[in-house]
Amino acid sequence: MKRNNSILLVDDSRLNRLTLSDILREGYQIIEAENGKIALEILAERRSEIAVVILDLVMPVMDGFDVMEEVARHPEYKYIPIIVATTDDDVENEKRCLELGAWDFIPKSFRPEIIRFRVMNAISKNKMRLLEYDTLTGIYNQQRFYQATRDMLDETKELKFAFIHFDIECFKMINAFYGVKTGDKLICYVASQIHDIMKGREGTFGRINGDIFCICIPFESVQEIADILEELKRRVREYAADIYHINTAAGIYIIEDNDMDVSVIYDKSCIAAKQCKGHYMVSQALYTKEMGEKLEREQRIVSEMDRALEQEEFLIYFQPKYELKEYRPNGAEALVRWRKPDGTLVSPGEFIPVFEQNGFITKLDYYVWDKVCQFIRQELDEGREPEPISVNVSRMNLYQPHFLESISNLIKKYDISPKYLYLELTESMFSDSAHVIYDSVANLHKMGFTILMDDFGSGYSSLNVLKDVDLDVIKLDMKFFSKGSSTLKGEKIVESVIRMADSLKMPVIAEGVEEKHQVEMLSVLGCNYIQGYYFAKPMPMDAYRRLVRGLPQKKTDG
Ligand code: C2E
Ligand code: CA
Ligand code: CA
Repeated sequence: MKRNNSILLVDDSRLNRLTLSDILREGYQIIEAENGKIALEILAERRSEIAVVILDLVMPVMDGFDVMEEVARHPEYKYIPIIVATTDDDVENEKRCLELGAWDFIPKSFRPEIIRFRVMNAISKNKMRLLEYDTLTGIYNQQRFYQATRDMLDETKELKFAFIHFDIECFKMINAFYGVKTGDKLICYVASQIHDIMKGREGTFGRINGDIFCICIPFESVQEIADILEELKRRVREYAADIYHINTAAGIYIIEDNDMDVSVIYDKSCIAAKQCKGHYMVSQALYTKEMGEKLEREQRIVSEMDRALEQEEFLIYFQPKYELKEYRPNGAEALVRWRKPDGTLVSPGEFIPVFEQNGFITKLDYYVWDKVCQFIRQELDEGREPEPISVNVSRMNLYQPHFLESISNLIKKYDISPKYLYLELTESMFSDSAHVIYDSVANLHKMGFTILMDDFGSGYSSLNVLKDVDLDVIKLDMKFFSKGSSTLKGEKIVESVIRMADSLKMPVIAEGVEEKHQVEMLSVLGCNYIQGYYFAKPMPMDAYRRLVRGLPQKKTDG
């Protein structure tokens, strides 16, 4: 059905409907309703088709006034012009109609040219107006909202304003599972609730696109905004609560400078809204300067990463692991550093999370593995038997279709045995419990690699994982040895983990050990290895090479 090309005739008189149909048939589709109730049902179902409503006032079941009152309650009906058919010159009636939003009147004497003219007029005037409204919801569209907000900020420069970004979490899912029509209905519902909450309040609101709505109001207090949002969230949640659970997210920006571009203001509210994403308990966040700075840093990282990899700005540091019994280095973990062209060294905590987000981590990891294999090759070429070097493997690698192939190609490329390369998989990776992960581990084992479970004890899945996945070594999370943590309890836990690992025949590496008493304690408990500042900090590859060169070669069995 063509959009906006139908006329809805609401009149209880069949004859009137027939006459009007005859007059307007040319050029328009005619939909008839014999009372207000039916008219509203048709509006609800076929709103997008209807260009004009011609409405009789006196009808059984539901009269014209009630129809107009109901229409006024729905912002999404706002753009449908209503022309009222009147029998007499009743000034009171006409006044009431105009108050309720009637566009125009036609006398029931039904003069064909006049009627056609008035209908055409209403439609074309409405088209102009439509450009300013969101056709789905009837509230301001982005352009109009930005303009109205701009005007408001200019008009009252001395007032402070708050700008709110509001959206529905996982709205795409609702569209995908229940259909676009259901999604549209939800959007309309949200718009009508915002419309309702904003009634009698100063401020602007509109739909930006999709499920994103914005509100700009004079700023009183954060609490006031929180209350408004809480109310809106409650209403949205109520909608179809028995069918689907709707979460909402809101980002709030208190406008610092009313001269700021509305699009810039909007961006800041988006940044704040992002803080809620994926955090079930957080449904509103206030923009802070730190958020903006963090995002800027992240954007800089993203814009520089490709060049950095090409220009070999990523350096590989080795942090030795010490064997506790003999107090001697036994292999190392490769840790990446980013040396910027100006010489500053950036630690992975800054950039790894960004790369894990955007997928660049798979490239960087591969680069690190390559350099490590190259190092092992050099050692072998120089006639030394290297201790294994462990590398970090990000979750995303395991979801790469060619992960196993590329890692096996790598050891072929340098012609080294997989026994020299240990792979560290973080504990949190296993919370996916996806078969991809379990299968990958099995396959890596088949290929001859040793798998370390990194950050053991930092998450919640540890014990299950030990039962279900075949891992070789446990790396005890640093937090067990961080300062200020409850020492006695921590010690007990460490002790039992070591005992458990021992009974599973899994060696334990304790990470982040900085103090002598910790070393002594671990030694008593029977921990096998320590990787921590107490023995050595991560060092450049060359420094590590010098360190192990000074050592007598250990006897090997192969
Ligand atoms: P991780 O794998 O748990 O690495 C251990 C981190 O603890 C390293 O930080 C190391 O420098 C630090 N550390 C070791 N001993 C001590 C200690 O005694 N005290 C303290 N305070 N810290 C200690 P770093 O190098 O900053 O790395 C942080 C994280 O970044 C790593 O945690 C790892 O998750 C990630 N990462 C580093 N390099 C790579 C890489 O090449 N690929 C991937 N995917 N992740 C990497
Ligand atoms: Ca690690
Ligand atoms: Ca770790």
